[in-house]
Amino acid sequence: MTEKQYGGNTGRGTGGKSIKNIKTINNSKQIRAKNEQKKFEHNEANLNTNKEKIIQAGKIASQVRKFAKAIIKKDVSLLEIAEKIENKIRELGGKPAFPTNLSTNEIAAHCTPSYNDESKASGLLKIDFGIHVDGHIADTAFSIDLENSELNSKLIRAVEESLNSAKNTIKNNVLTSEIGKAIQRAIESNGFSPIINLSGHEIGEYNLHAGLTIPNIDDKNKNAIKKGLYAIEPFSTNGSGKVRDGKPSGIYMLTNTKAPRSQTAREILEYIFKEYQTLPFCSRWLIKKFGVKVIFGLKELEQNGNLHQYAQLIEAGNGVVAQAEHTFLVEENEAIVTTE
Ligand code: MN
Ligand code: MN
Repeated sequence: MTEKQYGGNTGRGTGGKSIKNIKTINNSKQIRAKNEQKKFEHNEANLNTNKEKIIQAGKIASQVRKFAKAIIKKDVSLLEIAEKIENKIRELGGKPAFPTNLSTNEIAAHCTPSYNDESKASGLLKIDFGIHVDGHIADTAFSIDLENSELNSKLIRAVEESLNSAKNTIKNNVLTSEIGKAIQRAIESNGFSPIINLSGHEIGEYNLHAGLTIPNIDDKNKNAIKKGLYAIEPFSTNGSGKVRDGKPSGIYMLTNTKAPRSQTAREILEYIFKEYQTLPFCSRWLIKKFGVKVIFGLKELEQNGNLHQYAQLIEAGNGVVAQAEHTFLVEENEAIVTTE
């Protein structure tokens, strides 16, 4: 998934919302487990375990990329593609870090099939998926042209070149604006525009959009990359170079755990907290567990302020959009692409 910036600042994935009232379920096993883990944060053995899990998640991502490329053909059902990708992730020992995004043409991101979706693969399709191993995340995306279109393949080539330029630029202490500059230059030299209000992001444990934002243009900021985990995700377009919010995506994230009124909504909230913690999830996943009635529970949770629902992101000039993304582990002297 990507990060939409609000007002050009280093916004968060949730539009600046933070998790509130987590203390109300502070006695849950998950929070206890997390706190116990925190105590060992500076233990070197634990850091190595974390790195191992980051690398493991990346290796699964790399295998799933190959798998996805083999199964995606024009007119295959998007629902089937999403489910196969998510099942493959589980089969390889990971869990989906967020719902598989399958976004077509002018939809830049945050489109996942609903439980009864009948859409078929077509156009310029962006496949964006994530894996986590105990909260250690890999986030990756690629684009496929299903129309033999010259425009689509040029957009894809431009965005892949820009990700490659970013890969050659990212390292410890480099300014994030330098990475943005490399992306912008590569896309513009191919005759297209980067999408300026979408960006890459730092990744934390169980936190897809943490800390630093990595712009897709030279935004002149003075933030520097530090040792850590980052997703870089340029978008190229022949449109206006900006996205606007479209319809609700059915992708949600927990933002607050204050108790809702109905028993059903409370049960759904407990389940979300246990299964997904602070990672994005979708109604399609919950319907498998609770049935279609979960839609009403989700509505109640949204109205009660427990959930943030992401909007689909649409190219503002209705241009066609291509995306590419990899996750990078930045260490003292090198940056490793974990998802390649
Ligand atoms: Mn991302
Ligand atoms: Mn992504």
